Amino acid sequence: MRDETDILISGGGVAGLAAACAFGSAGFQVVCVEPNPPVTEADAAGSDLRSTAFLHPSIPVLETAGLWARLAPHAAALQIMRIVDAGGPVAEPRVVKDFNAADLSDQPFGWNLPNWLLRREMVARLAELPNVRFLPGLSTAAVLTRESAALVTLSDGQRLSARLLIGADGRDSLVRTALGIPVKTLRYGQKALAFAVQHPIPHQNISTEIHRAGGPFTFVPLPDRDGQPCSAVVWMDHAAEIDRRAALPVADFEAEMMERSCGLLGPLRLISRLTQWPIIAQIAARMAGERSALMAEAAHVMPPIGAQGLNMSLADLTVLLDLALADRASLGSVAMLDAYHRKRHLDVQARVSGIDLLNRASMLGAQPLRDLRAGALDAFYSIAPLRRTLMRAGIGVR
Ligand SMILES: Cc1cc2nc3c(=O)[nH]c(=O)nc-3n(C[C@H](O)[C@H](O)[C@H](O)COP(=O)(O)OP(=O)(O)OC[C@H]3O[C@@H](n4cnc5c(N)ncnc54)[C@H](O)[C@@H]3O)c2cc1C
Repeated sequence: MRDETDILISGGGVAGLAAACAFGSAGFQVVCVEPNPPVTEADAAGSDLRSTAFLHPSIPVLETAGLWARLAPHAAALQIMRIVDAGGPVAEPRVVKDFNAADLSDQPFGWNLPNWLLRREMVARLAELPNVRFLPGLSTAAVLTRESAALVTLSDGQRLSARLLIGADGRDSLVRTALGIPVKTLRYGQKALAFAVQHPIPHQNISTEIHRAGGPFTFVPLPDRDGQPCSAVVWMDHAAEIDRRAALPVADFEAEMMERSCGLLGPLRLISRLTQWPIIAQIAARMAGERSALMAEAAHVMPPIGAQGLNMSLADLTVLLDLALADRASLGSVAMLDAYHRKRHLDVQARVSGIDLLNRASMLGAQPLRDLRAGALDAFYSIAPLRRTLMRAGIGVR
């Protein structure tokens, strides 16, 4: 005998938890399985020290999910995105361009939050929803789909039947594999280090991306800690360089980050562990299969440039939720899932290609190519309508 549910979400990363909150708040019966119980404190082992910048289009679905009121008090506004080219022979800024949200509206570009805190608030929200069963410690072990339902076996042998199975189980998604959906993967030989720093010069709500070679070094504003300005950092580079830096004594690491950041925020003090992330771009050939939808990294992965990743995942969720609410009786039907694929796949393809290009430009090592990159940034910035159009495309507003 199988337990029945409306929706089974495979994966309780940030994307899967957000989906559980959203569909739960909309009144659907939801089961969410996640093998690794969420770590909800910054200093605990295994905590996710990345941060996420939520851009405008992501906010409505977080409100619907009952999450935004919980998250907003902890968020740091992103008013300016600053791009710095430091690709000359010495590591110093030579082109600095500010993309100001005030050029588009009276609102900031978005709001930044640490990922461990997202998990804390999402798990707390799930506890308020009696129609959601969150099962940390369990994973999806097998999937079989029929025209009428997805049949899922969990790692403890439990068997469930769902009208809609959502694969939010990450870049190596078991759901995607079970559905036989192929992926195209691009490898860069890069890794990212993610961590937090304190600095004497205030960030003034500016996110700063510094390009030299190997990949960008990015500061994202965090709220002050103990009265001191703080930022989240993502430092991308060739994998061997990242491995070498991660093994340095703290004082040497701090000296290297000071040099790589061109001292823009003054001497940096490391205030968290370092976490390492392999960088790839990946895209699934389809966003859906029988009775199943893929979302977030199960469907698309890209280098962390321009705050796109999780925002695209919330765009997936927005479309899925709208389709589910438009016709509750057709949840998981062929028509619903075809519509989901059509509405999302082109945008996903365009964004993965765009970020791939930006990442390759940022990696350039040869001096003439780095000079070309600086020239292109200068030229593109000086054409105001083009600048505004690309800013709008970047945040995903019209
Ligand atoms: C350094 C870095 C910085 C980033 N910064 C930003 C940013 O500023 N803005 C932004 O929008 N995005 C950003 N991203 C991207 C963003 O973090 C990801 O898009 C997001 O975390 C992906 O979430 P996910 O839930 O799909 O994947 P994951 O976090 O990988 O979650 C997948 C979950 O599925 C679970 N799972 C695996 N197998 C199974 C199974 N068989 N059954 C059940 N569960 C399973 C895993 O345990 C995991 O918890 C960044 C990424 C990196 C690497």
